[in-house]
Amino acid sequence: MSQYSGREAGRWYSKDGLATFVRVISRDLGDFGVSVGRPTVLGLVTSACACISPCLPLFLKAKFKSDHKSQRQVDPEMDLEELIRGNLKIYNEVKPKNPPPSYTVIATLNDADSKQLLALATGTQASVGAYPDDIEDCHAESLIKRAFKRYILDRLLSEPDGESLRLSLRRLNELRLVLFISQFPCGLVRRYQGDEPVDETTGAEIDKKPGRGQERDGKIVFVQRSKCMNKLKRWISGSGLQGRRFHQELELSCKLARIVIGQCESDPDLEYEKNLADFYEKLALREHNIDLNHIPIREEEFVFDVDSKKPQDVSLVWWHSDTNGQNANRGAKGRYEYIVNGRRIGLTKSQCDPSRHNERHKLKIGDHWLRKDLARLKERFQSG
Ligand SMILES: [Zn+2]
Repeated sequence: MSQYSGREAGRWYSKDGLATFVRVISRDLGDFGVSVGRPTVLGLVTSACACISPCLPLFLKAKFKSDHKSQRQVDPEMDLEELIRGNLKIYNEVKPKNPPPSYTVIATLNDADSKQLLALATGTQASVGAYPDDIEDCHAESLIKRAFKRYILDRLLSEPDGESLRLSLRRLNELRLVLFISQFPCGLVRRYQGDEPVDETTGAEIDKKPGRGQERDGKIVFVQRSKCMNKLKRWISGSGLQGRRFHQELELSCKLARIVIGQCESDPDLEYEKNLADFYEKLALREHNIDLNHIPIREEEFVFDVDSKKPQDVSLVWWHSDTNGQNANRGAKGRYEYIVNGRRIGLTKSQCDPSRHNERHKLKIGDHWLRKDLARLKERFQSG
């Protein structure tokens, strides 16, 4: 039997002691192969209370203690809903102003200990880049990784050489990260009509994501980029969220401690609990000591509604930064960029032309600046 129960996923943020107690009892009965609903357990608990009330405080104390021990990274004090609503306030300060009715996906990344928001991104589509610097994968999960790299670079580049630079790197290595996504990533839930692309000879599923690509498979268009589920899997089982290059150059490894899924699916019949269980299993979250939560955050702008809204065509990428760096907007104690069609908003065709190379036109979260600043940083570590 799976040690994970979808029931369990959303309850840790609850401060309601009885709800938590009922959850614990339901799970324990489940472990013995007894499947019982919450109302039944609630009724049993209420009746039993009259008989065992003198012993109840002692039992509860022992039970919670053992649960906390067995789940190393549970932070009972953390109110996840409050944390994510705080992130959404920052989003509202810096999001594109007066957009037409539209929908998007949002991802946020917090430091689990300080609660500080480190990075935030909203997604548009994946598309085939028209110019070499274009970012092809503009799903929120992919963009938040770029925002996080930018956060790392700005934080380290703002430190003076020597001990404070090395200390800042050590602090980054100790980070425990909380990733929030407003809905399940692509690759877990099928939201598009038609079949997933498969290899014609082997029949195996091909790792592409939906978007505006050049390949057509019936009405479905796929882009040669990994599904977000597969990307998450690599971040979790690989070197960390900062990516392979940052790991190699800086010996940096930033791990997720918790993933939080919102309630923004448009399909009213979608089974959240089944999908949470699948998500937990497929990403092997238990082996990697990553907790999973489901919270009742549902904002209309994060719910797909093809009948009355259109997909948002501007991605917001924000990262926490104290620097005075050039070339990115400043807002909400950080910096941010707007991306349209994988490039800085408002660029003309000639400004995208690689033969007219101009660094000012390149995104700070694009490959050019990420690589260049990483090289600068590595030099400083080597010379210091
Ligand atoms: Zn995706």
